Amino acid sequence: MSDTALVSNIQKYTIHDGPGIRTEVFFSGCTMRCIWCSNPETIEQRQRLGFYPAKCITREKCGLCVKACPVPEKTLVFGDDGVLRRVNQVAECDGCFKCAEVCPPRAIKVWGERYTVAELMKIIEEDRSFYERTGGGVTLSGGEVLAQADFAVELLKACKAVNINTCVETALNVPWSAAERVFRLADMIITDVKHMDSAKHREITGAGNELVLENIRKTAEFCAGSGVPLVIRTPIVPDYNADDTNIRATGEFLRGLPVELAAYQLLPYRKMGTEKYDSLGDDYPMGDYAPPERADWEAHLLELAEMLRRDYGLPAVAGSAGKL
Ligand code: SF4
Ligand code: SF4
Repeated sequence: MSDTALVSNIQKYTIHDGPGIRTEVFFSGCTMRCIWCSNPETIEQRQRLGFYPAKCITREKCGLCVKACPVPEKTLVFGDDGVLRRVNQVAECDGCFKCAEVCPPRAIKVWGERYTVAELMKIIEEDRSFYERTGGGVTLSGGEVLAQADFAVELLKACKAVNINTCVETALNVPWSAAERVFRLADMIITDVKHMDSAKHREITGAGNELVLENIRKTAEFCAGSGVPLVIRTPIVPDYNADDTNIRATGEFLRGLPVELAAYQLLPYRKMGTEKYDSLGDDYPMGDYAPPERADWEAHLLELAEMLRRDYGLPAVAGSAGKL
């Protein structure tokens, strides 16, 4: 096992992914490609450069990145106004990240950093008093945390050793062996069902749903046996998975699981993260898709949640703000 993990972000004071106030560690690298993903910097398990033209003070006035980069003509693209337009992480770019290091206004930024367990624990422990006051702790998320399962096990052991509450959020498109050994150290598990039809699941996530559904069944059995609370979510994306047939098929599947869910959360699609796609030089997968009016859509989610409570006996709620 590597003694470091590649982490794309560490977010403090989160309140949606587990109980209380939490520190959330986003692991880099995902096994799916969900078209609505709002964290594109977590998708690939490698460090990436983000660029923010609005911050660049121009090549003429600064130009430090050009001096620092061994191959600026291949990588750094400036507009006629002298502003950095993009950074091409092409084959010639050796990932030295000197361009980001020298940029005074941080118009170039590196996404992803390697951490040891000890380094992460130092950051996690800074907010112990918040966890104690609110019943919070640490949430391991991503990307896909289970793609770096060995490291996650060591990090969770370290949290347990100092009595910090642990939550694991995963899309479960991984071998069960990876999930099981991480789950043994979790105080809560959060996962999601994105579509009950495998072909449509593949269309919107890049992967079929067989492994995910099988792993959800196994997770439910694990939770029934261990008493670890299980939260399931569905990101409800209009025109993709919000139709009555799919929602009812999801309700039927969840009703058949051998555990009572702690919550079933319907998460509203929001067009988010587009500026991050721009900064990475990637296209937003949903293009210029225009979702319904937010108020209408949220009202629809409330209706779906009520139907799932009434017809399927599920603890369904709209959104992730409810108490866990
Ligand atoms: S990472 Fe290094 S090689 Fe790549 S663009 Fe930046 S300075 Fe140039
Ligand atoms: S170092 Fe930063 S501010 Fe200076 S030219 Fe390069 S991108 Fe622009």
